[in-house]
Amino acid sequence: MPENLMEKVVSLCKRRGLIFQSSDIYGGLSNTWDYGPYGIEIKNNLKRAWWKTNVYERNDIYGMDAAILMHPKVWEASGHVQNFFDLKSDCKSCKKRLKTADLKDKAKCPECGGQLTESRPFNLMFKTHQGPVEEAGSEIYMRPETAQGMFVNFINILDSRHPKLPFGLAQIGKAFRNEVTPGNFTFRTREFEQMEIEYFVKPSEADAKLEEWIEARYNWYLDFGLRKDNLRKRPHEKDELAHYAKACTDIEYNFPFGWSELEGIANRTDFDLKQHAQASGKDLQYFEDATKEKYYPYIIEPSGGVDRSVLAFLVDAYFEEMVKDDLRVVLKLHKDLAPTKVAVLPLLRNRPEIVEMAKKLAGDLKKSIITIYDDTGAIGKLYRRQDEVGTLYCITVDVQSLEDKQVTVRERDSMLQERIALDKVKDYLITKLS
Ligand code: ATP
Repeated sequence: MPENLMEKVVSLCKRRGLIFQSSDIYGGLSNTWDYGPYGIEIKNNLKRAWWKTNVYERNDIYGMDAAILMHPKVWEASGHVQNFFDLKSDCKSCKKRLKTADLKDKAKCPECGGQLTESRPFNLMFKTHQGPVEEAGSEIYMRPETAQGMFVNFINILDSRHPKLPFGLAQIGKAFRNEVTPGNFTFRTREFEQMEIEYFVKPSEADAKLEEWIEARYNWYLDFGLRKDNLRKRPHEKDELAHYAKACTDIEYNFPFGWSELEGIANRTDFDLKQHAQASGKDLQYFEDATKEKYYPYIIEPSGGVDRSVLAFLVDAYFEEMVKDDLRVVLKLHKDLAPTKVAVLPLLRNRPEIVEMAKKLAGDLKKSIITIYDDTGAIGKLYRRQDEVGTLYCITVDVQSLEDKQVTVRERDSMLQERIALDKVKDYLITKLS
């Protein structure tokens, strides 16, 4: 791991347009981040990869996209109004607000040594108002998780798609938590994106399905390139389990600031469906044709964070290498996650024939491969720029290309170069990228 890896990744993100501080020109809104041109591509690629594995490649999962704003009763039934609290303490001297669970000494501020207030509960849900009048009855919440949007649609999916158990719902979307101690770049923020699956199973099969999902989700991170040494599964102790969970295992990544949760996979039992059935008065049981039994399914929930995953993949892919006395920074992202697949670079930008040939090639490639054209610097600089954002192939068009109609294709990780005929280059790349 390079020294100061976190600082280096943060600096690369800003320098190359992956992630910026939100509202930067106003001094920034703390712990809030905007994804720039390359960042959004990586994030979208990650979400697409998750969706492909979990929705398109399976027969038993349905995608959906529920609204962020939900009926306030949802959050009473789910337990969020009563239970979604962090205990916090305030420093009487420096006024810093701290999470009580993080404090070794519950009476003294770790920053300035000042006296701390008694710890008090602090609900993590963001409240807002629906409609033009800010009155008590119009209060609603910004969802703190995407999960509830799926539980409340259980019956709609049964009635419209008629699936048999086990089946699941998958959703990717924003969630909001008024975290007491956000930080570590995009790791813990107040606005973030989740990718969640709610998998409905027969209660007797829940334990086995939980194990299957833990394996599936662990392997997914490995398949998309996280190093095995940096990934581990951590079963929860009984006293850490959420009030609704019977068992939970976290998949943790070895971030520069320590092992931390990427995703939690929980057996939520029949808690959610029962709660919503009781609060809504609707029958949310499943009728099993074969046995004529009616029951509440258990729910296995793999719940991951998009932003946390992007951060783990960035950190894991960051390499520094010495190449002929020069430091090369390269993001060795998996080919499906790399933001740009190909960059076309003219070796001499003051030769119109070369520029024209390079632009034409880039234009042709763009129709089937994410390609950019760049002629804003000398070739060494252009390569460095592409390496830093993980571009898989750089193609240079040079003087010789004008004569032999061949171009040089350089692969990101090995830096090996090959001459390929201009009319073969698209097929060559499509094969490499598939
Ligand atoms: P933590 O203990 O780190 O706060 P959590 O156990 O409360 O996380 P869950 O409620 O299980 O998190 O949410 C599922 C996933 O959503 C987490 O594994 C994480 O990837 C992501 N997530 C949760 N809170 C945040 C946050 N504040 N910022 C970014 N991602 C988050």
